[in-house]
Amino acid sequence: MKRYKIIISGRVQGVGFRPTIYRYALQEKLKGFVLNTTNGVVVEIEGKEQNIKNFLKKIKTQSPKQSKIAKISIQKIEQKYDRKFLIKKSVLSKKSSLEISPDISICDDCKRELFSKNDRRYLYPFINCTNCGPRFTIIKDVPYDRKNTTMHEFKMCEMCKKEYADPANRRFHAQPDACWDCGPDVELVASKKLKVKSLNKGKKAIQKTIELLKKGKIVAIKGIGGFHIACDATNDEVIKKLRRRKNRPDKPFAVMMKDINTVKKFCYVSKEEEKILNSSEKPIVLLKKKYSTQDTVAPNNNSLGVMIPYTPLHCLLFQSIDLLVMTSGNKQDEPICKTNDEAIKELSGICDYFLIHNRDIYNRCDDSIVKVQNKNDLVIIRRSRGYVPNPIGLTRSVNAKQSKTSILAAGAELKNTFCLTRGNEAYVSQFIGDLKDSKTYEFYKESIENMESILKVKPKAIAYDLHPDYLSTKCANELRTTHSKLFTIPTQHHHAHIASVCAENNIDDKVIGVSFDGTGYGMDGNIWGGEFLIVNGGTFERKYHLRYIKLPGGDSAVHEIWRIGFSYLYSIFGDKAVKFYPDKNVSVIKNIINKNINCPLTSSVGRLFDAVASIINLRQEITFDAQAAIELEFLASSKSKNKNCYEYEISGEEINLKKMIIGIVDDFNKHKSNSEISLKFHNTLAEIILNICQKLRKETKINKVALSGGVFQNEILLEKSVKLLENDNFYVFFNKQVPTNDGGISLGQAWIANKIMNSIKIA
Ligand code: ZN
Ligand code: ZN
Ligand code: FE
Repeated sequence: MKRYKIIISGRVQGVGFRPTIYRYALQEKLKGFVLNTTNGVVVEIEGKEQNIKNFLKKIKTQSPKQSKIAKISIQKIEQKYDRKFLIKKSVLSKKSSLEISPDISICDDCKRELFSKNDRRYLYPFINCTNCGPRFTIIKDVPYDRKNTTMHEFKMCEMCKKEYADPANRRFHAQPDACWDCGPDVELVASKKLKVKSLNKGKKAIQKTIELLKKGKIVAIKGIGGFHIACDATNDEVIKKLRRRKNRPDKPFAVMMKDINTVKKFCYVSKEEEKILNSSEKPIVLLKKKYSTQDTVAPNNNSLGVMIPYTPLHCLLFQSIDLLVMTSGNKQDEPICKTNDEAIKELSGICDYFLIHNRDIYNRCDDSIVKVQNKNDLVIIRRSRGYVPNPIGLTRSVNAKQSKTSILAAGAELKNTFCLTRGNEAYVSQFIGDLKDSKTYEFYKESIENMESILKVKPKAIAYDLHPDYLSTKCANELRTTHSKLFTIPTQHHHAHIASVCAENNIDDKVIGVSFDGTGYGMDGNIWGGEFLIVNGGTFERKYHLRYIKLPGGDSAVHEIWRIGFSYLYSIFGDKAVKFYPDKNVSVIKNIINKNINCPLTSSVGRLFDAVASIINLRQEITFDAQAAIELEFLASSKSKNKNCYEYEISGEEINLKKMIIGIVDDFNKHKSNSEISLKFHNTLAEIILNICQKLRKETKINKVALSGGVFQNEILLEKSVKLLENDNFYVFFNKQVPTNDGGISLGQAWIANKIMNSIKIA
């Protein structure tokens, strides 16, 4: 007889780990105990050598589906002659190395019970087990025990208690476990001028909601990480009404569809895409549309964002519904609503009814958005529910020294996320949004606190963007004044974009970085965004960039894109450019350009897309971020193999696109189709990337290229560039795990800061 102490770390809580251990211990006739601690699952086992071996093998090879073992340490200890194997109470300490599981979509077993007439949870909208249900969104503190979640206030009934305590049961220690008798319930309410009227509860509430949706009503539905706004996706009238009420004229809505067969009716679905739609993360997947009839849902867009039901409540609603628009329940730029009161207050002008429930959401978390690119690459566009808080390793080497400095990376301004590091792991936060909105800024600060408490870390260094006006920078400065010992590490925006690719791919040597982006504060105070950098860990060098152009009116040119179109034309044709904009007041713009009033200089490729869209009169104003670029991409997506390019010049470190703009104007005047012009424009950008990378390779012998920045959400440009570069034997890397847009900036900042902190230690 022997006794061992085993410590298992990683994602081992809230995923059915202890019951599994218990089962294996019984199977192998082992005595001892298992318990959750802040450092992981601790097991002590006593028994015959062979049984212990079998036990360890089972843990390693048959651990629960949602678990992820980071490390197992085994130590022989003295025998204690226990008579039983027990599950002991959790032990807390201040430091933690545990991983918290993301939220998990309803499992097949629970789905089966949900629709079994004889099951005691028949049609219960909060059914869950150790393999599924909410996790990150309900957790307040570690370890993951019921009392540390928002389920704390629900007292389990005798039946539930029995299941919870029975190691042989699927619900053994399932923290959010509940049933009709003891758990949360749904309620349908109407709200007129904030006077809330309860209509139905339970099954009736769900039935009534289905009827209302079918009648063309707009209903707010409380979900896992926040509210959705739902309406019939086949009813153009209600979608138009929703667009009016939400002040969202064009931006695509996501759609939830009953099942994979329904999805296939409307979209092309590859094997890989089907796998991701059905995965336990259940993100919104961008799919190619089959028909254009969904055009009120996603106008002028190739793709449609689709997800399938991921909570029991969704499954119940979709019993007799095929597809619903399911968009985030928020006002423009504000965070997604998470409490009932908040939703009723904020969304009353948008929604006719509210399907609420009384299980509180602690951590707000939007739906994630992903797409499949290059056949099998999963590319994450918005990383939230289902993925957060999974860590991203900052180093691949198992023997790497654990970094002792925890870093807070503040992120950028739009599509903000922040990142906290613990040891060599980076925890990128859920999607926060646009920090300029004051409620979003509050959400940001509150989420940083929550993440610190779940990870049990206090950052010693803070990385932030160079932009002096970003609120994330302001937040960093506030922290600096309150924590005098905090290291502060300013990072350049595009350096951080490229660093995010390095972090994901564990690139430690020099790399050519191509950052094509909308906006980013440059070292010279100008707005960068068409940059070729050499990135070497914590440092970088700017090698080439688009020639600067004046951005008349600064931020207002981002929405009124004709201003940047005019600026390009005016820089080339002088006064002749005026005739391109007969119905715009260009003399004012001409004036501010000539007098250099509020005309920041920019090398942004994002703005170049806007300029081209304006010049070919595709549109002159936009209502959401990257709208013009998305429509240009849509035009270029014809199957044409045309490889024609426009001319351009490189002088010194500047890429001069004067000839390209002249070419585009020529083609436009010759009535060439916008599709053809757009394709030629995309070809030219890919060609420029290849050309400059070749120059840099010649000069530096570096053969790795990292592509990042919001512009690379453009699939056509990304695929063309990757192909050209790979055909010329470059190793090409781009973002997959974090967004290539500013949602990935925080990971890059953390990686840079980590490099810098490590080098400080050596020196
Ligand atoms: Zn389940
Ligand atoms: Zn119960
Ligand atoms: Fe950016």
